[in-house]
Amino acid sequence: MGEPNGTDTSGVTAGLAGHDRLAELVPVALAGLAAGTAERGGAAPAGGPAAVAAQLAAALPDGLLPAEGVGERAALSELSTLLAAGSVDPAQPWCAAHLHCPPLAVAVAADVVAGALNPSMDSWDQAPVASELERALTTAVAGLCYPGAPGADAVVTSGGTESNLVGLLLAREHAGPGLRVVRGANAHHSVARAAWLLGLPAPVVVGCERDRMVPSALAACLSEVDGPAVVVATAGTTNTGAVDPLRDLARVCREHGAQLHVDAAYGGPAVCEPTLAGLLDGMGEADSVALDLHKFGWQPISAGLLACRDPRRLDALTVRADYLNAADDTEAGLPDLLGRSIRTSRRPDAFRMAVTFRALGVRGMGELVRRCCATAAEVAAAVAAHPALRLWGEPALSTVVFRPAVGATADELVATARRTLLESGTAVVGRAALPTGPDGADELWLKLTLLHPHATAADYLPLLDVIAAAAAPVGEQVPS
Ligand SMILES: *Cc1c(COP(=O)(O)O)cnc(C)c1O
Repeated sequence: MGEPNGTDTSGVTAGLAGHDRLAELVPVALAGLAAGTAERGGAAPAGGPAAVAAQLAAALPDGLLPAEGVGERAALSELSTLLAAGSVDPAQPWCAAHLHCPPLAVAVAADVVAGALNPSMDSWDQAPVASELERALTTAVAGLCYPGAPGADAVVTSGGTESNLVGLLLAREHAGPGLRVVRGANAHHSVARAAWLLGLPAPVVVGCERDRMVPSALAACLSEVDGPAVVVATAGTTNTGAVDPLRDLARVCREHGAQLHVDAAYGGPAVCEPTLAGLLDGMGEADSVALDLHKFGWQPISAGLLACRDPRRLDALTVRADYLNAADDTEAGLPDLLGRSIRTSRRPDAFRMAVTFRALGVRGMGELVRRCCATAAEVAAAVAAHPALRLWGEPALSTVVFRPAVGATADELVATARRTLLESGTAVVGRAALPTGPDGADELWLKLTLLHPHATAADYLPLLDVIAAAAAPVGEQVPS
């Protein structure tokens, strides 16, 4: 089983010989990961797109698909090193632009096992216990979203985008023809896209204040809509982490006979933390809830879920394919999995989520959420006290939004500071366009999305000075 050339294909992971091969190769991959991480040093590769592309080209002079392979160990070592060196690394606190979390080691390790066994979640005969574990996971998640509805159910998705798509699909199937989507101005772009994909008219947009949907504006809007409506509220906006007033919005929906879908892709797991759960009060009134455990949840991508208060709502996904879920197989007791997704072949993402839930429990999950939010509150206080920076507002969750404390040119300074820090490899900082300008015009803000549960405010305070310096008007000294 040597491999002087790349033609040795004996290392299929299945079976004990394959496990031995895996045990040889995983350390090679981890060594590459360590070497590349050390080579990079900071949050991001230095030099920007041109440097990263040049490094790849230099590493692969004969291209990615040479006539003769280089062998498994060499390819794995080389490309793992390259990937680590050229990645932005969410395990580095200064990599804080997006809802892009550092995955827990336990979840990544679990994924090795899932990958080796490769269950496919579209039929029981490809995923016997994996499908039972997925059921246990989705039941647990539905219980978190709907503590008052014991029959609630959930399905696994690829993320918030698919959860919003399926949520709106189920709303359309429930309502019949003529459904209108009504969303806040703060909604994720995937909501409008889902409406487009589903052949629905473009969503009606409801005004927000401080990035939260205004219940009276929703009521006015629903009074105008002819026919059935589904309202999409957001629990944790992508721009600021703001959480819509869900209880009030649910009441307005009830009064107008509208369905309610809550996009809790970011904020959902805050239900695990008693000091934060109040923010999500009313979420259990929604017909469906989107969650992303590759944000708060610390899973490798992808780890989305869609929960429904009434499990029958999911019946709309039922589909028959004789080779996967023949009616006689189902009658004979083989669980029908095909209707648990809009996909067919599907990774066992539930496995690493299940391992993580079991390892941390509700309290452990909540504690990680709490730490991120507490750190964000401290960083926000430091921003507020910083002479060169202006805070957008108190973080509801773990997003800190701010801009240079100068007037007219701040938009430009924000945009260029972000690119400068990224291209130097110093820090990955986000941006958000928010309607804070005169007459509600958009202005650009900088954003730190803090998802590193073990980073502390002390990790970020020096970054504020670095950002302030990068965003200073040319020729000005920045007070720090
Ligand atoms: C991240 C996010 C999404 C999209 O989720 P993906 O997992 O990237 O598909 C949708 N809505 C909100 C509020 C989000 O934060």
